[in-house]
Amino acid sequence: MTVDLDALVSNWRSLDSASSDTTETGAVVKANGYGLGVQPVVRALAKAGVKRFFVAAAEEGAAVRETLGPNVEINVFSGHMRGDTDMIGDLNLIPMINSTDQLLRHVEALPGHGFGIQLDTGMNRLGLEPEEWLSIRDFALDLDPTLIMSHLACADEPDHPMNLHQLALFTDLTEGVGVPRSLAATGGILLGPEFHFDVTRPGVGLYGGLPFAEASPVVRLDLPVIQVREIAAGETVGYGNTWTADEPAVIATVAAGYADGIHRIMGPKTVLFSGDTPCPVRGRISMDMIGVEITHLDEVPQGLTILGPQQGVDVLADNAGTIGYEILTSLGGRTARRYKGG
Ligand SMILES: *Cc1c(COP(=O)(O)O)cnc(C)c1O
Repeated sequence: MTVDLDALVSNWRSLDSASSDTTETGAVVKANGYGLGVQPVVRALAKAGVKRFFVAAAEEGAAVRETLGPNVEINVFSGHMRGDTDMIGDLNLIPMINSTDQLLRHVEALPGHGFGIQLDTGMNRLGLEPEEWLSIRDFALDLDPTLIMSHLACADEPDHPMNLHQLALFTDLTEGVGVPRSLAATGGILLGPEFHFDVTRPGVGLYGGLPFAEASPVVRLDLPVIQVREIAAGETVGYGNTWTADEPAVIATVAAGYADGIHRIMGPKTVLFSGDTPCPVRGRISMDMIGVEITHLDEVPQGLTILGPQQGVDVLADNAGTIGYEILTSLGGRTARRYKGG
């Protein structure tokens, strides 16, 4: 796997310039930087000027703190979970509080330690419900939260009425709070300036995925060819004999499979590339190997590209009936990563 850190930084800059100078653009680096390796990702982004990182869990925040030291802000979406107090306190992580219980736990365990507030404006996933928020609002605001945020459920569908509904509710719940506010992830940034508020939280767009259609590709995955064989008409390839050659064929076996995030279900629709030449997957994707037809190539390649400029994350996602986020975060559990630029 090759991760282009210059492309990552350029995607961050594009999303940053989509909002005005008064809006701070953070970076969401949860799930090991969407599967690309959190340390090189946060180093490159911090060098480019990112001051605020978002993670899902305190442990992920600890990894960012270890990599970057004290001068960045690290916000934790899961808030202040039982058992996380030492990590939050010692490493100066800022929990995004999502319930009255969490707020009480936080102020009792770490009085004076920073925190943010997360409101649920309709996604019904995480955050204080409007009524709960209104009942503790004055108490919470007296404790000087550093951020008030909410999350959009349908931001990748610009015309979805949920977007304006959540915008109106968030605006209403936070009118006049005097605290920086944040509503937009990648999709929200693209919806327009009224969604930007003071801080944006792009994730997937940084890594080259939709809904940021203009993103530069960040990940490339080249799979080594481990064996090549000629098969006769009528022979089959792979588990279950699901593919039979009509004519004599040359099949390359490449070293990767569903254990590397190349989901079995994408097999029938997926091609690999030798340069610009597509080479179809033949037979079922195994745990560690994939059969690919290279009959039409002039010579046997050393490797074939499954993810790169010829075929992006979202094409593979379509082939697998899923979204780019799931492809990115599934890739590369045991794959060596090479980093370019940064
Ligand atoms: C994951 C996440 C983000 C980033 O979303 P993208 O769609 O990847 O840009 C932002 N905010 C919250 C609360 C999230 O969970």
